[in-house]
Amino acid sequence: MQIAGLNNQTVRQHNRRAIMALIWRYKRLSKSQLATHTGLSIPAVSKILDELVSEGKLSHSSENLSSRGMNSGHYQIPNDGPLILCMNVTPTSIESQLIDAQMTPVGDFRHTQVNAPTPEALLTAIEDLWRQQQKNCPGRIINLALGVHGQVDPDTGVSQTMPQAPWKKPVEIKYLLEERLRVSVRVDNDCIMLALAEKWQNGSNRQDFCIVNVDYGIGSSFVINGQIYRGMLNGSGQIGHTIFDRDGIACDCGRYGCLETVASLSALKKQARVWLKSRPTTPDLDPRP
Ligand SMILES: [Zn+2]
Repeated sequence: MQIAGLNNQTVRQHNRRAIMALIWRYKRLSKSQLATHTGLSIPAVSKILDELVSEGKLSHSSENLSSRGMNSGHYQIPNDGPLILCMNVTPTSIESQLIDAQMTPVGDFRHTQVNAPTPEALLTAIEDLWRQQQKNCPGRIINLALGVHGQVDPDTGVSQTMPQAPWKKPVEIKYLLEERLRVSVRVDNDCIMLALAEKWQNGSNRQDFCIVNVDYGIGSSFVINGQIYRGMLNGSGQIGHTIFDRDGIACDCGRYGCLETVASLSALKKQARVWLKSRPTTPDLDPRP
């Protein structure tokens, strides 16, 4: 019957996704561990694993994870797959780290100062960093994953607003970089990327949590039931422009007294400078010459 066929297919897709999610989270699991976590029978898990291995999505290693009893090795993401260059992008700096297909760091973390008065200059800075890595890894595919400050459409990879930038128009980051570099480019908001890292890299398997990123501005991201909560127009978590003090100081967004004007890293630094200048001079403690 067609309905039963559709149901079977839906269940199979669900089980495949569950197995892939477990491997992403735990990195290496044996067949019996996968059966325990999913609640599926060993024959059912075997069938799905055979499919995933034949499609190149998983690889099997005969190395046993435990010395107890009979064991048939473990399964993992194949580590000869494409590398990923991860970046945290702002118009003044780019932090970058190359990782392999299993999300293990390759080489060193890099912090690069950037001077990007235009979107073109920022794209060129990203491209230069990618080309340097490509030179070090000839013949390997290096995809890009970009965490970008401000509002981002994760489906189209368009940076809609980047409050730190001098430009005010949207930038088609994904499209423009894929055209130039011919690799896959994933773009999302920086706080959402932080939450995804916590979700996939922290093995303690929390289902519900919130990331708060206090930097130039203030952003946050919520994971509910293991899923990113994006909200209307991908606006969830944008708490920095919540008005905190109606008579407060002007914010870059054009309003007054937003949370960012009081508690962001840049606001705190400014308050510290004002305080240092205004306090009574104590000769013994005064750092000024
Ligand atoms: Zn504001």
